[in-house]
Amino acid sequence: MTSNSESAISADQPAPTIGPPDVIGTPLSPTATKVMVLGAGELGKEVIIAFQRLGVEVIAVDRYPNAPGQQVAHAAEVIDMTDADALRAVIDKHRPAYVVPEIEAIATQALVEVAERGIAEVIPTASAVVATMNREGIRRLADEELGLPTSPYLFADSLEEMTVAARQIGFPCVVKPVMSSSGKGQTVLRGPEDAVAAWETANTGGRVQGTRVIVEGFVEFDYEITLLTVRAIDPRTGRLTSHFCAPIGHRQINGDYVESWQPHEMSTDAHASATSIAARIATALGDGKLAGRGVFGVELFVKGDDVYFSEVSPRPHDTGLVTMATQRLSEFEMHARAILGLPVDVTLASPGASAVIYGQLDEPAIGFENVAAALSVPETDIRLFGKPESFHRRRMGVVTATADDVPAARERAVRAASMVTPVSGRQAVRKATTLPAPAPRRPGTPPGPAVPPGPAMPPPGVPTPPGPPPGRGGPPPAPRPGPRPVGGPRPIPPVATPPRPTGPARRPAPAPARGE
Ligand code: AMP
Repeated sequence: MTSNSESAISADQPAPTIGPPDVIGTPLSPTATKVMVLGAGELGKEVIIAFQRLGVEVIAVDRYPNAPGQQVAHAAEVIDMTDADALRAVIDKHRPAYVVPEIEAIATQALVEVAERGIAEVIPTASAVVATMNREGIRRLADEELGLPTSPYLFADSLEEMTVAARQIGFPCVVKPVMSSSGKGQTVLRGPEDAVAAWETANTGGRVQGTRVIVEGFVEFDYEITLLTVRAIDPRTGRLTSHFCAPIGHRQINGDYVESWQPHEMSTDAHASATSIAARIATALGDGKLAGRGVFGVELFVKGDDVYFSEVSPRPHDTGLVTMATQRLSEFEMHARAILGLPVDVTLASPGASAVIYGQLDEPAIGFENVAAALSVPETDIRLFGKPESFHRRRMGVVTATADDVPAARERAVRAASMVTPVSGRQAVRKATTLPAPAPRRPGTPPGPAVPPGPAMPPPGVPTPPGPPPGRGGPPPAPRPGPRPVGGPRPIPPVATPPRPTGPARRPAPAPARGE
């Protein structure tokens, strides 16, 4: 489904109105509300599913065939998204009302042109996509225009410049290619002796070959968070409003997130600073009118009550995968809603955590064993992304878990994720299930089942679920209490929309399984 033909965007067709639609049409019909998602990885896949559920037609674009999001979209296109002509051609072919970039490596000039000519609305805005694809753009916006607190920084275009900049910033400092994200090409310099290796790493690890780097002062933070900020239209006022999810804590290894949890405890002052920074950066990436809708992942470093802006993604954030378990609406559902001009809801339903499953193998078409055992850990769920090829450190899936508090949820997520075992691809062997012998019929009972057949027996090795299912007798469900502060001198204040102590009918808390 490659579409590389040279094709100019035709100006003679009626341009879609910029802004949210007043009607959602029928997919695959002339009335369809069409969205093109650029980047169909695991985050794009969830955004696509959220759109599909709202009856939106989705075209998933990626650089390789059968990307996760393409497996659940109405149409798929394979192009090099850094090729402006290819990007223009694919937008011209499908004429979506919305173009939703889910990755950074995109020919942004084509998006600017598409937006300027009113061909499609670029989410959140074309200028935001331009500003955030490059660390320099984000940093200059945050520091020079908005005056947000950041680590000290300098830019450099050669090893010599970088060495001078590192001395000026002081050691330790962090060197990152400006065209990079998620720790790629990044090195912490402990002293001048680390400069040559850092320069080489930066030049080979960026998204595109280029030599410009940012040298940042190393922030000795107590913890780092992602503050998901949603810019959505408030139906009461018709204006864009910022909504803040509960802070998400995360743990990174080599700049890659391995675990996240929500909520993360913060002092009242730190929380106030964090929401103020997030509101200012998210608002600045809009146009002052109704453009700039959607989810922003605002990354912040926190030391005591001091909060430093680090980065922002103008789209759902990988650490926010946890919201699929913790929030009434996941970050993906909120992104889709905000884009369509629908109201959002940032209610936290339960404390929870996510843990990444890595490929561990360098092979195509791998398999995963022990999924049943992993899901027997209470209150866990799994997403296997369906990536056609595995690499050792490629994110192939994620486990989410909920619990009464974050430490318990983290323990469950990590334990379950560690049970899932990537294996070389092979055909599945079906496990035969031995059904119990039917009970002898009482004399006079007519033939046939006296009661509807019960549920199938669980596969061997999987414990039977504890307690009766909801609504079938047994004690009434106990609502989960709101998240409990984990300790420390200053407990977390309620976030913008505090979790409800008794929310919508919650499922009963399962009885603890053995070993919990
Ligand atoms: P980034 O690619 O900028 O998101 O960085 C990835 C991770 O590296 C962050 O989540 C932090 O854990 C760490 N990091 C990046 N920049 C700094 C810094 N200036 N000081 C301390 N840690 C940093």
